[in-house]
Amino acid sequence: MGSVGGSGQDSSKRSRSGRLLVVSGPSGVGKTTVVRALAARHPLHFSVSVTTRPPRLGERDGIDYRFVTETEFDEMRRRGELLEWAEYSGYRYGTPRAPVLAHLAAGEDVLLDIEVKGAMQVKAAMAEAVTVFLAPPSVAELERRLAGRGDTDPTQVSRRLIIARWQLEVAPRIFDHVVVNDDVETAVEQIVRILEHPEPRENPS
Ligand code: ADP
Ligand code: 5GP
Repeated sequence: MGSVGGSGQDSSKRSRSGRLLVVSGPSGVGKTTVVRALAARHPLHFSVSVTTRPPRLGERDGIDYRFVTETEFDEMRRRGELLEWAEYSGYRYGTPRAPVLAHLAAGEDVLLDIEVKGAMQVKAAMAEAVTVFLAPPSVAELERRLAGRGDTDPTQVSRRLIIARWQLEVAPRIFDHVVVNDDVETAVEQIVRILEHPEPRENPS
């Protein structure tokens, strides 16, 4: 995904650096759906991650992800080019640092859609980042959404549900905010409010 919803080049934005919004949550909870709807309400630059996962049908290199080999990923990591990285369900994912910093410096709000371990690394490196965990109304509903999407094989669905149970347990202690994605518009509304008033924490540990 590239820049969505506005360039952020107007004079009011040039005077301050942008905010870093990290949205995390179990696979299938609706992160892609919610952040796309969010971008229609609030100008955001979507960070494009690198991954060693093969592309799914319809995914475009350089837009949805940069699809790289294990060797390319290792080299980026070794050169310190990744703001964070993590292994997830057998593949590696990472956030290229330079574009994130450039867009923040240009006054744009930047969105990272990353898993929990990566979100923790970002928060440790950049305390001012606003972290949001998107939770499902129930695990049964999460399974319905994940399987219903139809682009993830059954082994990956089971692996992702095991990870999801762990994430749901730790999330309230780790994230600044937990938002339940029952209704998309309500979830978007809550995130818009968080962006407008990032403090205080809703879920202090
Ligand atoms: P993620 O990016 O977290 O893996 P997706 O955005 O791909 O999840 O959503 C997974 C599936 O759940 C999709 O089929 C999507 O249409 C559906 N979905 C997303 N949000 C909701 C919601 N609030 N209610 C019902 N279905 C939803
Ligand atoms: P998927 O394979 O379904 O696209 O993504 C699997 C998980 O990896 C999702 O939870 C997604 O948020 C996460 N992810 C995507 N990009 C990154 C990244 O750059 N870093 C980390 N840590 N996780 C990522």
